[in-house]
Amino acid sequence: MTTTPPDFVPFALPDIGEEEIAEVVACLRSGWITTGPRAQQFEHDLAAFLGGGVEAVAVNSATAGLHLALEAAGISAGDEVIVPTLTFTATAEVVRYLGAHPRIVDVDAATMNLTAAAVDAAAGTATKAVVPVHMAGLACDMDALGAAAARHRLSVIEDAAHALPSEHAGKLVGTHGSTATVFSFYANKTITTGEGGAVVTADPAIAARCRTMRLHGIDRDAFARYAGSQSGWYYEVVAPGFKYNLTDLAAAIGLHQLRKLPRFQARREALARRYREAFADLPLTLPHAGAPGDRHAWHLFIVRLHDDAPLGRDAFIAAMAARGIACSVHFIPLHRHPYWRDAYGLTPAMFPNAEAIFRGTVSLPLFTRMTDADQERVIDAVRRLLR
Ligand SMILES: *Cc1c(COP(=O)(O)O)cnc(C)c1O
Repeated sequence: MTTTPPDFVPFALPDIGEEEIAEVVACLRSGWITTGPRAQQFEHDLAAFLGGGVEAVAVNSATAGLHLALEAAGISAGDEVIVPTLTFTATAEVVRYLGAHPRIVDVDAATMNLTAAAVDAAAGTATKAVVPVHMAGLACDMDALGAAAARHRLSVIEDAAHALPSEHAGKLVGTHGSTATVFSFYANKTITTGEGGAVVTADPAIAARCRTMRLHGIDRDAFARYAGSQSGWYYEVVAPGFKYNLTDLAAAIGLHQLRKLPRFQARREALARRYREAFADLPLTLPHAGAPGDRHAWHLFIVRLHDDAPLGRDAFIAAMAARGIACSVHFIPLHRHPYWRDAYGLTPAMFPNAEAIFRGTVSLPLFTRMTDADQERVIDAVRRLLR
């Protein structure tokens, strides 16, 4: 039973079909429900989808993956890691897990992404890494960021939670030669495993360290141990690791989500196209769609209401909710949250672009199960409120 009115348009919905359901049931019946053959297959399929000689390490969240990737890159207490302010707190919190400090910087006004210039301005002697975030699914300029990172000898850990299957300069995010790229399979991301994530890298040493540390610092995973050779009971602990493995139950969902990704992407692109044409004459800034050669994953469709719009952002979201349409805000910048603000003495004046973005920013519903009729309802409401 649901109490949601039938004409309510949610902000996002997972797109789970009979294939995922049957695979989860088969997994349950198989007797192997934690990390095993399905997680291994999912890693194989994700690496094959991305290409570029990468391998994938499946984990139980992108947050876990970011933590593992930074640890594998050697980030430790007292180090500094450059992080954009316009992101989810997970991007920065993992830096604190390691006793290191995020150096929180402003983003580009048009793309909402981290720039090479910001990296050049922020990098100091303690800076060891940078974490670009591909905001909403618009790829960062990885050529420029990679060059800036090289100038300052920084590891690059991409937060690609929004960016499957984004492309920069004709190449998928995850294949640009960074230290590691981390994807999220949280419930509302472009593909989901309920909760889940993956670290992707072309560096075998980074992959090996992530594999070890995702399961207690043990040198082999449970499947290899129990289903492997005669000495399957033997293992060695080589580090105080974490419990970050992806279960086969979750991977069972991911196997089919990944196969559906091209169809999901086509639907997201069609929804984004329709929004863009429907809002072209309104007092708002449409999301940056990417340079030629880029592909936007359209995880989010973020518009920015102009200061002269008939109503402000908060009133707009309330009015949309009153019409049965759920909107959201991505993100409240890190520098506005009490912890980050107080721990690092951050003020709004340090982040003029993120402040200007935040003032008018609204994320509209965009998900693959959204019908054309759902979208026309959203468009009609937006046009009535803003025209
Ligand atoms: C969702 C998200 C994460 C965290 O992903 P989880 O899989 O939920 O840990 C990290 N960074 C950004 C930008 C996100 O949107």
